Amino acid sequence: METPENENFRDSIATINEDGKRNFIFPKKPSGPLYEKRKLVSYFLLAFLLAAPFIKINGNQFLLFNILERRFNIFGFPFWPQDFYLFVISMLIGVIFITLFTVGFGRIFCGWMCPQTIFLEMVFRRIEYWIDGDRNKQMRLDRQKWDAEKIKKRLFKWFIFLVISFIIANVFLAYLISGDKLLKYITEGPFQHTETLIPLVIFTSVFYFVFAWFREQVCIIACPYGRLQGVLLDNKSIVVAYDYKRGEAENGRKKFRKNEDREALGNGDCIDCMQCVNVCPTGIDIRNGTQLECVNCTACIDECDTIMEKINLPKGLIRFASEDEIERKEPFKLTARLKGYIAVLAILIGVLAGMLSLRNDVEARILRLPGQLFEHKDNGIISNVYTFKLVNKTSEEIDDLSFKLRGRDGTITIVSTSETFIVEPQGVAKGTLFIELKQSDLSGDKNELMIDVYSNGELIENTSVTFLGPRSFN
Ligand code: SF4
Ligand code: SF4
Repeated sequence: METPENENFRDSIATINEDGKRNFIFPKKPSGPLYEKRKLVSYFLLAFLLAAPFIKINGNQFLLFNILERRFNIFGFPFWPQDFYLFVISMLIGVIFITLFTVGFGRIFCGWMCPQTIFLEMVFRRIEYWIDGDRNKQMRLDRQKWDAEKIKKRLFKWFIFLVISFIIANVFLAYLISGDKLLKYITEGPFQHTETLIPLVIFTSVFYFVFAWFREQVCIIACPYGRLQGVLLDNKSIVVAYDYKRGEAENGRKKFRKNEDREALGNGDCIDCMQCVNVCPTGIDIRNGTQLECVNCTACIDECDTIMEKINLPKGLIRFASEDEIERKEPFKLTARLKGYIAVLAILIGVLAGMLSLRNDVEARILRLPGQLFEHKDNGIISNVYTFKLVNKTSEEIDDLSFKLRGRDGTITIVSTSETFIVEPQGVAKGTLFIELKQSDLSGDKNELMIDVYSNGELIENTSVTFLGPRSFN
């Protein structure tokens, strides 16, 4: 294989020059069948990302990540702080799924599904192509002095970027505080809610900074998932790869000359046209091999295929392939590592499904009041005092609630509320209650009692408590 022109490509990144200053990338506007497919995927994902905080299922926001109030909805399924273990398992499943996918298919999530890439490549960059033109025009404009044309174009572009950043910040806020609250705050007037307005301004500034200036450096420098690539990928992972066997052949890549017999000359199929480099949004040369900066956006595949078509050579010089496929023509197969991840994923999904089926919409907790023992009452009655907490995880009101002792003669008296009560949707009811039992029905100083929770006569939850009584000395 020919020595790469830039031998230091693994020690430096294209977005920072030797002086440590920002090297702005001006990628060529992508085109081709894969780009068209990417567009469709991104339209769907953009619509999903923008709509998810305003979609409701059974009255629950489809996706909600209210960190401050510790309320999370995933696919319309509410997770309470009490369900934190379910949330952790769901997150683990997500991480293992992405890991499995990465081991098998490289960083394709980055190029095709990550919100950062979708917003940057499919929204901001396309606006830039519309205002500033393609790569060469953008480079020319960048070098141009600050005349009326440049000022007009820059101000127009920055204004549009700011408006879009503001819209994204609003949607991001809706994921955090809920779509309903966001719409309410907008209608009531943002200055009535400065505690939300300030984060909104901060988010807008961060999004503007990321999409107008920081850009692909998020994927190269900041994103922890990108850093994991070196650990996850191996020779069997399918990634966007340059077929160096074919591209370099015996005598390496050479410029194209009409009517030459490249095979007879020992020249590779790569004609060193640099189109794959010019189109790359992270500024790398994929011909140097798999690199950390490659987000698998597939723009170079489209570009190289177009060139191959023009010079009548087979497409696929850059394609989805593993190192082993290029080196040894080995097709993709499930490795022991992949099978291991699939097994762990299947187990975790099974555990989550089991836990979800056991999860109740109402959670009851009844605890003895700290520091209290028991009280003797008339007619040989023993009384214990408890605090109770009922969590309604649904978006429906739960009414006509009552507690009953299971399999015991005794009474439950709720203090400061009626014997039946309601819990608001997604609400919590708290209070104090007394349980009274005949001493003759006790079997020692510690008795386990089962308490059933009923709503409209239907059993909806149960919990156990310890009932204290006097020690028996017989
Ligand atoms: S686009 Fe294809 S032919 Fe052109 S430099 Fe890249 S790999 Fe070589
Ligand atoms: S090397 Fe190709 S697939 Fe990788 S980021 Fe650059 S253009 Fe996208």
